[in-house]
Amino acid sequence: MSHLHDVVIVGAGPGGSTTAAFLARAGLDVMLLDKADFPRDKSCGDLISPIAVQILSKLGLEPSFQKFGFRVEGATLTSPKGELLRGPLPSHPSFHPYAYVIKRVILDDLIRQAALRFGAHFEGRVRIRTVQPQHEQELRVIGERGSERIEYRGRLVILAVGANLPLLQSLGLTSGPVDFAYAARAYFEGVQEIDHHIHLHFNGVPLPGGGWIFPLPNGMANVGAGFYQRSERKPSTAANTLTRFLANPSIQAKLNGARQVGPINSYILRTNFHRSSTLGPRMLVVGEAAGLVNPLTGEGIHYAVESGELASDCVRACFEEGDFSSTALMRYDKILRSRFQRMFTLSTLMRRFYMNSFLLDPMVRACNRWPEISERVVNILMAYQDPADALRPDVILKTLRCLRPSRSNLLRFQ
Ligand SMILES: Cc1cc2nc3c(=O)[nH]c(=O)nc-3n(C[C@H](O)[C@H](O)[C@H](O)COP(=O)(O)OP(=O)(O)OC[C@H]3O[C@@H](n4cnc5c(N)ncnc54)[C@H](O)[C@@H]3O)c2cc1C
Repeated sequence: MSHLHDVVIVGAGPGGSTTAAFLARAGLDVMLLDKADFPRDKSCGDLISPIAVQILSKLGLEPSFQKFGFRVEGATLTSPKGELLRGPLPSHPSFHPYAYVIKRVILDDLIRQAALRFGAHFEGRVRIRTVQPQHEQELRVIGERGSERIEYRGRLVILAVGANLPLLQSLGLTSGPVDFAYAARAYFEGVQEIDHHIHLHFNGVPLPGGGWIFPLPNGMANVGAGFYQRSERKPSTAANTLTRFLANPSIQAKLNGARQVGPINSYILRTNFHRSSTLGPRMLVVGEAAGLVNPLTGEGIHYAVESGELASDCVRACFEEGDFSSTALMRYDKILRSRFQRMFTLSTLMRRFYMNSFLLDPMVRACNRWPEISERVVNILMAYQDPADALRPDVILKTLRCLRPSRSNLLRFQ
């Protein structure tokens, strides 16, 4: 019979590997599994927010971000009609006013390597098909490597499979309609006018949706575009959306002289945490598998690593108390709900309200005209402030006052 691990983690993306690192550091016997061999790529914008940087710094990773990533200190946003909003990333008492752009093929392996350094075990090319109870005290995690059937035993299981649904569906851990977004990215080299800003574009894309140019080291950039399921103009695929975005004159001007390297890669995003399951019997769901992708920004790494850290706190408490009951596991759900339930519900509302061709331009104008509105919106996008603050009557009225363009179309956030 195979060895009984304390925790078996399925999925070695940022969510699974962060959980593995915190648990292994606490002395638990952790087996981390992935259907891919590592290092592996993942279609992404590669932007790691200040909150994610702070959590991953606890695992000693920031020096690697400085080495392999590009530090961004500001954002430039282009509205659907081409008006600009530009400024530094906001300051916050707990988080740095900067983020990193780092290729996922590097980032995910850095986190996985940290987990291994703390003592976790890893096996790649293992596709897990199901998880079954074995006695009352353990679970069997069953899958295959090539044509070989393979089985692991764990006292607890963490499911961190990202947007890949079959395993979650087979375990009854998805409920209700799944809210998807679709996005694609390509890498470019020889980008001439790279600055230390992320460039967010709402021109040349279907709404709700967006495009981006995120700078990488050595004159490279990650360029992408995506849209939400209920977009106004139904685009056929994320790859087509990106192709059209790349043909937009303002994007062509920014990428002047740059060459695409490698193919366009696309993938889905799940943004419905507020309606997702976070646990099953002796199981916790971490990261995008729990729908934890910000419904406004499409950002998922922060939520994957934060939920990973919170899951590890809950699992450690279970082992300390010898209590693996659903009541003990429920502590994870409670803390996740208190952190994100309201944020996800209101961010979805904010997306529906503002991210359309009627109100997005006026909203950008209002941000340019009233710095306190821009400060609120930027802090909401950084997950520092309650999204309700952008849905208050004063903000809506000021947005409506900006239905027509003003003389100035470029001011600073601060
Ligand atoms: C085009 C695009 C751009 C994006 N841009 C950004 C961005 O700039 N910043 C940001 O923060 N977020 C971004 N996101 C979202 C972000 O990529 C994800 O939310 C994030 O990767 C979620 O991390 P995770 O660990 O939960 O899942 P993942 O990173 O998806 O990892 C899941 C892992 O599970 C493995 N797996 C799945 N099923 C099984 C199975 N049955 N058996 C074994 N292994 C399995 C997979 O191989 C994978 O390695 C973007 C997404 C897309 C599609």
